[in-house]
Amino acid sequence: YQGLAGRSTKEVLQLYAAHGHQMKLQRSSVVTQLHEAVKKRLKQDLKSLHSFALELSKNFQRQSKTCLYQILAAVQGIQLQNEAMRMFQIKAFDLEQSLQEVIERYEKEKQKRKALHNSLVELRGNIRVHCRIRPLLPFDDAGGHSVSQDRQRNFSEKVAYAADDETVLVKCSRPGHASVSKTFQFERVYNDLESQDAVFADVAPLLTSLLDGYNVCIMAYGQTGSGKTYTMLGPQLEGNLAFSIEEESELGIIPRATQEVFRLISEKPPGSYWVEVSVVEVYNNEIFDLLAKDSYGKVFGVKRDVVTTREGKSDVPLLTHETVENASEFLHLVNKGLQLRVTHPTLVHAHSSRSHLVVTLTITTVVFGDNFGTLWEDEQTSQRLNKEASCTFPQKMRDNKFTSSSRASSPVQLEATEKMKQVKTRLQLVDLAGSECIGMSGVTGAALRETSFINRSLSALADVLGAIAEQRAHVPYRNSKLTHLLQDSIGGDAKLLVMLCISPGQKYLTESMQSLGFGTRARQVQRGQVKKKNFPMPNKAK
Ligand code: ADP
Ligand code: MG
Repeated sequence: YQGLAGRSTKEVLQLYAAHGHQMKLQRSSVVTQLHEAVKKRLKQDLKSLHSFALELSKNFQRQSKTCLYQILAAVQGIQLQNEAMRMFQIKAFDLEQSLQEVIERYEKEKQKRKALHNSLVELRGNIRVHCRIRPLLPFDDAGGHSVSQDRQRNFSEKVAYAADDETVLVKCSRPGHASVSKTFQFERVYNDLESQDAVFADVAPLLTSLLDGYNVCIMAYGQTGSGKTYTMLGPQLEGNLAFSIEEESELGIIPRATQEVFRLISEKPPGSYWVEVSVVEVYNNEIFDLLAKDSYGKVFGVKRDVVTTREGKSDVPLLTHETVENASEFLHLVNKGLQLRVTHPTLVHAHSSRSHLVVTLTITTVVFGDNFGTLWEDEQTSQRLNKEASCTFPQKMRDNKFTSSSRASSPVQLEATEKMKQVKTRLQLVDLAGSECIGMSGVTGAALRETSFINRSLSALADVLGAIAEQRAHVPYRNSKLTHLLQDSIGGDAKLLVMLCISPGQKYLTESMQSLGFGTRARQVQRGQVKKKNFPMPNKAK
């Protein structure tokens, strides 16, 4: 402002304009500088932002690529699994189909086998005889006091052998006696080493016949001490007439047959089956019911009689039949009955059994209406049984003496309908009394009486078997209670197996020869010609 003093207005204005211009120039340069700085900074930021974004997108790309790979791999895995699954499905389908084919083939084969089995059984005839030679045992050595050491040694010498599966050889030469060398042929011969298992294996097929509608009888014949009870029941407990149930491998035919019957029943098409048991003893030509109970429920033996029904069948009125549902129930029941058996120790063997034991399993099949024909595969049996089964239920049920009506499978609980039919088949398992002759056992008095009854019943049995083997019109079943009782399961189209039991020692030579002779006579001579149709029916036979 000092500089302005004395200046004209015009000059002042000029100076002021110049000053403003200069200020303007100065401002604009600052703005430019600022602008430049901001621009630079912005550029830098943009650049770093750009590189950051770039990095981010690269990262993203990388990660999504990995993800994609993983997804692809997973998809591939799933595809592979699907493929494998499909292959498995195809395989499973193929397997299912071939299994179905196998099942069908198996069914056909089973039927064929059954037909073959039945014709084989038929070809063998209705009576077959097997022979079992027991091992030499410690008690075979014991002789009487009067017997010299030398003779004792000879006594325990083995004279009976199984020459092969079908031949028994008896070979013996004693000073002062004619030497013996004889062979006997049977359907099957067991040597002393053959197990209970092996013996039962040959018996089992008969049980198939049982479920096919045939009555079956299996009986052990032989002198006391020859192994009848061992073969039929198993080893007996010391001092007890019952047998040991624990040792399964030692069980005899009776328990095994029962197990097999229950097994076969479980395989059958649905129908109702139940199994009843009766245990009787034939002693001095009298029948004792070993399952009858007194009013306290205690088992005691009661005398029964055997009669022939109007249909020509043998029947024991009032006999106790207990329904059993499995083999162990059966075993306990039989064991209880066995403790009542009458025995008399003879010189031959301390636990000699002087009575015939008959264990009977009655299998009743109830068939509803039209299913009847399908139950038995062979037509003939089916027709035959159809005829026999025409009886309807209610009356029969009342006639039967069922002792355990509380069982689920007991007949009493089955609602009787008009279409219901029942068929009974019977399996009789017999442990015969010793076949030795009186002189051998050295018995007198009451025991002598026993022995003569035994001899009479056994010769009645031999007569019956002889008559059947020769197809005679008359079969003398009624000559003894034993044969009368067994009539339905040894005559007609029933299948009988006689198991001859033989002691191998020289001491028993005479008895063994007698037993082998019995077996030989019992065998049917005309094998293959015995057709069940031609067989004399029991009612005609009397
Ligand atoms: P049975 O009933 O004919 O009088 P047992 O069956 O009581 O004869 O047999 C007499 C003895 O011989 C018994 O001690 C029995 O255990 C034994 N025994 C019988 N057969 C055989 C065998 N095959 N193996 C072993 N021991 C046997
Ligand atoms: Mg015995």
